[in-house]
Amino acid sequence: MDRIVVKTAGKVQYELIRKSNRRRIALRVTDDARVVVSAPSRTPRTTIDRFVADHVDWIERKLAAVGSLPKTLPEHTYMDGDRFLVFGEEKILKVQRGGVATTTCELVEDTLVVHARNGAKGGAIGKAITLWYVELGNQVYGELVEKWISRIGQAEVSRPVVVSMASYPKRMGSCSQKGDLRFAIRSLMLPLPLVDYLALHEVAHLVHFNHGDAFKRMLGECMPDWKHRQHEMSSLRIRTAHI
Ligand SMILES: [Zn+2]
Repeated sequence: MDRIVVKTAGKVQYELIRKSNRRRIALRVTDDARVVVSAPSRTPRTTIDRFVADHVDWIERKLAAVGSLPKTLPEHTYMDGDRFLVFGEEKILKVQRGGVATTTCELVEDTLVVHARNGAKGGAIGKAITLWYVELGNQVYGELVEKWISRIGQAEVSRPVVVSMASYPKRMGSCSQKGDLRFAIRSLMLPLPLVDYLALHEVAHLVHFNHGDAFKRMLGECMPDWKHRQHEMSSLRIRTAHI
């Protein structure tokens, strides 16, 4: 069975996971700045400590990087003053109650205004906001996908393409063999250049159904800094699983 113990090697504090099926020592730094070492059951502590000590520079670089990750927003309250990310910018929620039959949401400059039915609870307000994101996504990704398809060439993308939004908790997008492109609702919280990269990434899958060299060449031809954008996206790690 795995065992987790907090050990200290020099000034680095780490969690040790012993695994009988592991061959080598592995080291990682988690998003919440924990240093985790996985090691075979029989590796002596001195060997593990030395391994950690040898990688102190790498650990410190990683810890500095996760320390600079943007803070995720606090849990939503769905009340006035609650904050939502739209294309990397914070929008403040304002709930106006009464006078409407259904609860709807609209963006007015930097304010996300929900026109709520009398007695509407947080769940109903959250639903209206989600619906607003879905409509925004359909429109924005619809336009971006069209742009990249015409850039790559209609002839290359031979089938009809359907764009929709999905509540993926982890992935940001997907492409089916049939030509269904789906994007995570929470990807709309990313800055626009990254949303544009996501659109291109999935459109390129309509031609190359893998991440091979031809796929990467296509990304490079359409968006020379795609690697940078991809890296930025993974370092942003928008963890808001729901709206
Ligand atoms: Zn992909």
